Amino acid sequence: MTLEGDASLCDPPFVRTVILSSGSQGNVTLVEGGSTRLLIDAGISVRAVRGRMGALGMDADIDGVVITHSHSDHAQHLARYAAAFKVPITLTRRTYEELELASKSLDAEFHFIESSQLFRVGDIEVVTLPLPHDAPQIALKFRCRGDTVALVTDLGHVPSALHPFLRDVRTLLLESNHDPALLAAGSYPHWLKRRVGGTFGHLSNEQAAGVLRKLSPTVERVVLMHLSESNNSEALAYRVARAAIKRPHVELMVAQQNSPIVLDDRPPAQLALF
Ligand SMILES: [Zn+2]
Ligand SMILES: [Zn+2]
Repeated sequence: MTLEGDASLCDPPFVRTVILSSGSQGNVTLVEGGSTRLLIDAGISVRAVRGRMGALGMDADIDGVVITHSHSDHAQHLARYAAAFKVPITLTRRTYEELELASKSLDAEFHFIESSQLFRVGDIEVVTLPLPHDAPQIALKFRCRGDTVALVTDLGHVPSALHPFLRDVRTLLLESNHDPALLAAGSYPHWLKRRVGGTFGHLSNEQAAGVLRKLSPTVERVVLMHLSESNNSEALAYRVARAAIKRPHVELMVAQQNSPIVLDDRPPAQLALF
């Protein structure tokens, strides 16, 4: 891994993204650029990753794992990923400490990054941005030649630095976790409602809409991520987001917990599910 480099020579000239799982039960996104394939987070089992990739006709050949933060829905299977994939694991030192990895003596190579940094893994250039969450958390932006994909989940409010961060993005994977009214009326205990809806919790549909109202003109595709099973619905999140996006040709999808979504150059008609 180098910290800075020339424009990569990847082919095809776009970042292929597969959302293997998104939601409170586990999060893993696969990002492929050129000959480099990364798994982002380790929230579902190795077996599930291999099974879902296999079902898509992909072998589970991975070049690296990047961890966004220490919460179990993102990192609970990290030790098994290290054993199974035997690839470098990239994360911030604070996340490494929160996961107490020093005491677990994993047979793994760790690469430490800052929460605001540009680095490279193989053909993919990665940029990080710190996000407000109740664990040290980062947004990730992946670039390969002319294409840029951003992954922005697990944030309690929208930091002012997010809009400049998204300026050059073509595909935006954005948290749309809950509807505040459903959260308030739901069965979560009071402390958990406060945590989820707080400034260091998760982004509501309306907060996500605030990002989408100011979407960069470069954005062609938005995927709503990390929907709460209890406090949201796909139709509601989709409706709020669709109303916020001013350009009708921007594709909009909702990520699933158990059904992978492949983002490639499929025509928009196949992507508009609602
Ligand atoms: Zn999460
Ligand atoms: Zn989290």
